[in-house]
Amino acid sequence: MEMVFRKIEYWIEGDANQQRKLKAMPWNGEKIRKRFTKITAFFLVSFLIANFFLGYIIGIDRVGLMIQEGVFVHFGVFSSLIIFTLIFFFVYYWFREQVCLIVCPYGRLQGVLLDRNSIVVAYDYLRGEPRGKKSALSQDKGDCINCSACVRVCPTGIDIRNGTQLECVNCTACIDACDEIMEHIEKPTGLIRYASENNLSHNEKIKYTWRLKLYTAVLLLLLSFLAILLITRDDVSARILRTPGQMYQKLPNDQISNLYNIKLANKTRKLIHLDLKLENIKGKIRLINQINVAKESYYQTSFFIILDQERIKKRKTEIKIGIYENGDRIKTTKAIFLAPAL
Ligand code: SF4
Ligand code: SF4
Repeated sequence: MEMVFRKIEYWIEGDANQQRKLKAMPWNGEKIRKRFTKITAFFLVSFLIANFFLGYIIGIDRVGLMIQEGVFVHFGVFSSLIIFTLIFFFVYYWFREQVCLIVCPYGRLQGVLLDRNSIVVAYDYLRGEPRGKKSALSQDKGDCINCSACVRVCPTGIDIRNGTQLECVNCTACIDACDEIMEHIEKPTGLIRYASENNLSHNEKIKYTWRLKLYTAVLLLLLSFLAILLITRDDVSARILRTPGQMYQKLPNDQISNLYNIKLANKTRKLIHLDLKLENIKGKIRLINQINVAKESYYQTSFFIILDQERIKKRKTEIKIGIYENGDRIKTTKAIFLAPAL
C-alpha cells in the first residue's frame, strides 16, 4: 500500500490536500482523466500481483505456459485470475487500511506487544502542548499550532496527538505533514516522529540499549540459521518405506527379497536420473521403473532388495541405501529388511 499504490496515487493525484480538492471538485476533464489513470494503474498492478499469487500456488512456469496457450484453453484459471485481480483492486482502491483495522488480527496483537520502550510513530507532547497558535496575549503555547494537518492526512482518521492507538498503521504520513508545518513556521521538525514513550517523557533521543543489542543478536542468529538451512539444503529428498502389507519373499537359490516404496522430491530445476545402491551389505536392488524425476516435482516408485539368506543374521536388519546421480552419492537413507525368524 505504502510503497506501490500510495506512491502511484500521489504521482497521479498529488498529496493529501490535492487529493481532497480533487474529490470535492465536480466531474470535469481533469477529474475524469486522473481517476481513469489511477483506476487503470491500480488494476494493472493488481493483475500483476494476482499473476504472482497464482504463480506462488501453481508455479511460475505453469503460469507462463498457460499465458502462451491462451485464455480459452485455461478458462477456469483465467477466471480465478480475474477474481483475484478484482479482490486486490477492491482492497487497494477502496478497502485499504480497513484491512488493518477490521480484518487483520496482527494489529490487535501488536497492542499487547508494546511497552514504554517500543519505538512507534509518536507525538512529542512535552514539546507540543499546550497546543494552539501563539499570539501577543498567549505566549505560553507549545509547538503544535493545532492546524490538524496530521489528522487530515491520516488514512485511518486518527489523531496521533491522543497517543498510540490500535488504528495507527505506521504509515508516517502525519510525520511528513507535521514536518512541513514546522518548516513553514520555522520550528525544528520532529514534533511527530519515531520515538518510545520513555524517549518522550524523559526528552531523550533513541539510544542503542542492551535490549536492542540483544534483539540484534537474536536477529543475526536467526538470519545465520536461515542462511545455513539454505546453503545446506538438499537438492533431493527421499523417503524409503517397506511396502505396507508385504512381508518377505523366499526366492530360489536361498535368497530373500523385500519390496519397498521410494518417494523422491527433486528440488532442482533440471531432470535428474537416479540410481540406488546398497551401502552396508552385499545384495541386489531390482528397480521396477527407472528413476527419472522431472524438475521441481515428486516421484514415487517401488523396488526390490534381494539378499542371500546366509548374510542375514537377524529377523530385522537395518540396511543403508545410497542414492546416486551420475555415479556420485547424493544421499544415504535407511530401511529395515525383514527375513524369516532364524
Ligand atoms: S500537524 Fe503538527 S502542528 Fe499541526 S496539529 Fe498536527 S502535531 Fe500540531
Ligand atoms: S502513522 Fe500517522 S498518519 Fe499514519 S496511521 Fe499512524 S497516526 Fe495515522
